[in-house]
Amino acid sequence: MFGFDTSSLMMFLFPVVIVLIIVTIVKSQKSTDQNEPSKNLHTDRLTLCPDCGGKVSKRAISCPHCGLPMSEMIKEGSL
Ligand SMILES: [Zn+2]
Repeated sequence: MFGFDTSSLMMFLFPVVIVLIIVTIVKSQKSTDQNEPSKNLHTDRLTLCPDCGGKVSKRAISCPHCGLPMSEMIKEGSL
C-alpha cells in the first residue's frame, strides 16, 4: 500500500518537473531572441563600403577607411 502512495506522488511530481524544465528552456530561448534584434539594429545602422569592404555608419559623410564619399556608396547600391 505504501508503494502505491509513493508512485502516485511521483506521478504527480513528474509532470510538474517536466513543465518547470520546459519553462526554463523557453525563458532562456526568449532571452537570446531579445539579444538578436539589438544586433540587427546595430548592423542596420552600418553598411559595407563597396571599395574597401569596411564597416561604415549610414550617417557618415564618407568612408572612414578609404574616404569614399557616401554619395558614391549610394550609386553602388550598397545602401
Ligand atoms: Zn571604404
